Amino acid sequence: MEDCIFCRIANREVGSEIVDERPNAIAFKDINPKAPVHILVIPKEHIASLDDLGRDECEVLRDIFSLASDIAVSEGIAQSGYRVVLNIGEEAGQEVDHLHFHLLGGRFMEWPPG
Ligand code: 5GP
Ligand code: ZN
Repeated sequence: MEDCIFCRIANREVGSEIVDERPNAIAFKDINPKAPVHILVIPKEHIASLDDLGRDECEVLRDIFSLASDIAVSEGIAQSGYRVVLNIGEEAGQEVDHLHFHLLGGRFMEWPPG
């Protein structure tokens, strides 16, 4: 998707602070962080939303979650705790139509989220 900002970040056509990657996933720092650690983990392939994720995308999900877990360790938030958030659709606040998991940590998290 040439007009998708996250595809362009994944393809390194647009600059971002890339943290790490796997064959099917890439992680980069959120441009407008909501916590001391705020990293977005996305599939490299364009998948618009959870609703568009195929039922057999196990390798994509494995790469996304292993990347998030490893980054939590490398960012020093694995012990204190962290949150992985997926916003789906308008009422949940999804602004970018490319599946992305927010990895948030480094501060106390309220529950439930606002
Ligand atoms: P959503 O609201 O869709 O769940 O989250 C989108 C996130 O992407 C927001 O936290 C926003 O700050 C981040 N974001 C939007 N555009 C860019 C960008 O061009 N670069 C980076 N690094 N983050 C972005
Ligand atoms: Zn995309």
